[in-house]
Amino acid sequence: SSKMTKSFDVIVIGGGPAGYHAAIRAAQLGMKTACINMMLDGDDQPVLGGTCLNWGCIPSKALLDASHKFVEAQHDFADLGIKTGKVEADVPQMIARKNGVVGKLTGGVAALFEGNGVTALAGKGRLYGGCQVGFTPHGGEEEMLSAQHVILAPGSVPVDIPPAPLQDDLIVDSTGALEFTSVPKRLGVIGAGVIGLELGSVWNRLGSETILLEAMDEFLPIADNRISRDALRIFKKQGLDIRLGARVTATEIKGRGKQKTVLVTYQDKAGEQTLEFDRLIVAVGRRPYTEGLLAPDAGVNLDERGFLFVNDLCATDAPNVYAVGDVVRGPMLAHKGMEEGIMVAERIAGHKPVVNYETVPSVIYTHPEIAWVGKTEQQLKMDGESFNVGSFPYAANGRALAAGENEGMIRVIADAETDRILGVHVMGAQASELIAQAVISMEFSASAEDLGLIMFAHPTLSEGVHEAALAARGHAIHMVNRAPRAKN
Ligand code: NAD
Repeated sequence: SSKMTKSFDVIVIGGGPAGYHAAIRAAQLGMKTACINMMLDGDDQPVLGGTCLNWGCIPSKALLDASHKFVEAQHDFADLGIKTGKVEADVPQMIARKNGVVGKLTGGVAALFEGNGVTALAGKGRLYGGCQVGFTPHGGEEEMLSAQHVILAPGSVPVDIPPAPLQDDLIVDSTGALEFTSVPKRLGVIGAGVIGLELGSVWNRLGSETILLEAMDEFLPIADNRISRDALRIFKKQGLDIRLGARVTATEIKGRGKQKTVLVTYQDKAGEQTLEFDRLIVAVGRRPYTEGLLAPDAGVNLDERGFLFVNDLCATDAPNVYAVGDVVRGPMLAHKGMEEGIMVAERIAGHKPVVNYETVPSVIYTHPEIAWVGKTEQQLKMDGESFNVGSFPYAANGRALAAGENEGMIRVIADAETDRILGVHVMGAQASELIAQAVISMEFSASAEDLGLIMFAHPTLSEGVHEAALAARGHAIHMVNRAPRAKN
């Protein structure tokens, strides 16, 4: 806190995945870098890692993995020949373990900043004209910093809807849903998107009667249609009561003290319905977080949906100011933001990388997992493309059967003319890991034939990728193929 204006080569505003990747890479490239980050943890201590590490990707996976093991111990172990006796969930321990995992990782980012010489500034950042940045420490006065380049990475926040305002621990968003101290008996979820399915799964597995109210008539339209259809059936079998075409119109808190419940009114084809829940999770999307970020002279423009407007290289309309991650166009995914952050840091240093937005993988961490990259069959049909689809079921994969993971399929979609892989869609165990093979293949412009010619270890789930690629050309080995399509 000296009196002269502190200056940096790069100031990053935001310490989530996009921002901290940008900061670390900039420092690695020899630039004097600061990262301003306003997030505080549950004890009001400054914490790096953003939503992903603190309230998103990581804590949800800690609870998804724990709750999945609980289901396995209850229902699957007996078939494997393991007797467990009575299995019980210890929710406070699950939450404490989750918090421990989060603490290790956020501490890890702090250590990486330290090791790479990134100056971490805890507080709020605000961009002024000419790459001047106001930094307001928690509980302090704004001081001015100056930079050669500024990278904005403020992230996103949950969308709230007027009919369901958040209320203590009764009506919560994704953050509150990671903090329940006991299993709600009746759980309502508004939105059957990614968050609704993941957090709905956690509490459903632990014993909540879980009802998801989804406004759209179609289930998971962003995923491959065939997989969405199967997924809906599987999730319903797991006990998730997914109601489509259900638009929530009002909520009301009933009762007092520990007896409080939430009455939810929704509208569907049959008319107006009412349900009573002990807890309600609102999971209707996220929006870019730009409150207080831009001074009037900042020179950065927003687009019509409130995202910071950037070009393909993440440059804003202000000279030397970039924006990355959830606050700019494209999917709100940590890995997309990370690669944007790295691209911008490297471009500032004079390198020429680009982000390939055609190969951003998507993953939904339900069980089975759903993962995909590239185009869906329905998109290609709409575009009038001709293509071959090779589909291979987990039930025909030896390793999947040995592991008791026979639900799911792998679909490889290849151009009918060139055989180039256009999309890969996986539902099944380890889909999140298998999809990396598809991303790598597509980055190298592989054909389905290329994947079919490569040797995969046996027995592995990965062989399903190999077989689906062979199936796209009509000659999978462990499946009776439909009419062969390949000419050779
Ligand atoms: P989402 O867009 O995936 O799903 C929101 C759902 O809510 C939609 O299906 C929408 O139709 C529905 N909805 C909206 N208003 C409604 C209403 N009034 N009544 C009933 N339904 C309504 O958004 P999300 O699940 O909140 O996730 C937010 C963001 O976070 C997404 O961009 C997602 O990519 C990201 N995220 C990703 C992962 C992952 O990659 N595994 C996990 C969690 C979140």
